[in-house]
Amino acid sequence: MSAYDDSNIFAKILRGEIPSTKVYEDTDTLAFMDVMPQSPGHFLVVPKAPSRNLLDAAPQTLATLFPVVQKLAHAAKEAFAADGIFVAQLNEAPAGQTVFHLHVHVIPRYDGIALKPHAGGMESAEILAAQADKIRAVLAG
Ligand code: AMP
Repeated sequence: MSAYDDSNIFAKILRGEIPSTKVYEDTDTLAFMDVMPQSPGHFLVVPKAPSRNLLDAAPQTLATLFPVVQKLAHAAKEAFAADGIFVAQLNEAPAGQTVFHLHVHVIPRYDGIALKPHAGGMESAEILAAQADKIRAVLAG
């Protein structure tokens, strides 16, 4: 497995070098909308600590990350009245990984509605911003 390369796009988002539509942030974790959602409300949960994926992540990174994934999955289910939540995490290119900084996909699912292809079409910035607002509103209680 290659070493972590901090020129990846999520490292640039974490450093504030390129924009993202933020859903949630704390000391260790950032969540932002996926620009090519597979389903309305699809976002990514990203640890700030560097690792390519699950395989090279420090156990402490995972221990900190997954309670946030759970909290945000609950918030997304409520925000979008989703019927289910698909949580996905890909490791290395043959498994479909395209960005090599650990991230967890949180994808609301709706009865009878198929997922769009992985990394398919871009969503508009306005729609992503409105969806992030909905999740943040649930989190704010
Ligand atoms: P993976 O294939 O698991 O590495 O997923 C990478 C995800 O990142 C895909 O779902 C892309 O749509 C998404 N993505 C790529 N660039 C950006 C970006 N600048 N902001 C938000 N999501 C992105």
